[in-house]
Amino acid sequence: KEITIAIDGWSSCGKSTLAKALAKELNYVYVDSGAMYRGVTLYAKRKGLISEDGVDERAIIDELSNIDLSFSNNENGVAELSLNGENVENQIRSIEVSNVVSAVAKIKEVRQFLVKQQRKMGNNGGVVMDGRDIGSVVFPNAELKLFVTADPEIRAQRRFDELQAKGDNVSLEEVKANLKLRDEMDASREESPLIQTEDAVVLDNSNLTPKQQLEKSLLLVEE
Ligand code: C5P
Repeated sequence: KEITIAIDGWSSCGKSTLAKALAKELNYVYVDSGAMYRGVTLYAKRKGLISEDGVDERAIIDELSNIDLSFSNNENGVAELSLNGENVENQIRSIEVSNVVSAVAKIKEVRQFLVKQQRKMGNNGGVVMDGRDIGSVVFPNAELKLFVTADPEIRAQRRFDELQAKGDNVSLEEVKANLKLRDEMDASREESPLIQTEDAVVLDNSNLTPKQQLEKSLLLVEE
C-alpha cells in the first residue's frame, strides 16, 4: 500500500535531501512545500510588494489568484518549481528570497491558498512532502511523520556549501543569521507554527550521511 510521508523540521536540516531520496527509492511523488512559499515570495518581490518598509500583506493576498505554481521534473528527474510557466528554481533559493519568505509564510491566506494545493497533490498517497506544517496541518493522518533536526552550526555550514557550489556569493554569517531568523519566525507565528507532533519520529542527522539517513527512514516505512 502506498502511504503518505510527512517530513517537517528546522530550516536547512536535510529534509528535502531525505524527502527526495525516499521518493526516488519508493517511486513516490516528492512535493517541496517550501518551494511554494518561496514562489509566492518571489512573485511578491517582483511586483514590488516587499520593500524595506515591510511586506504588503493585503496586496499579496489580492494577487494570489494570479499566481500559478507547478512542479516539473528536470532532466535528472528532480522536481523544479515553475511560477506562471517560468522555471524559477534558482531564483527562489537566493538569500534575498530566503530573508523574507517567513514573513510571507505567516500570512493566513497565503497558507490556506497553498495548503489546499498541497492536499490535492497528495490525496492519493504515494507522496513524500516536506515543510513545516505537513504532519500537523496538511496531512495530520499521514502514516509516517518524521521530524528532522540537526545541530544549527552543521545546518548553516551545509547550506553555505550548497550556495557556494552554485556560485552564490553569500557569507557563512549571513546564512547562519537567516536560518536563525526563519526558525524563530516559523516556530512563533500564529498560523500553523512549526511544531513537533506527538506521533512524529525524531531524526537527528547531525552525524548521519544522507545515505544513513535514508536507510534509517526506510526501516520506519517498512514498519
Ligand atoms: O523548506 P524551505 O526552507 O525552503 O521553506 C522556506 C520557508 O517557507 C520556511 O522558512 C517557512 O517560512 C516557509 N514554509 C512554511 N510551511 C511549509 C514550508 C515552508 O511556512 N510547509
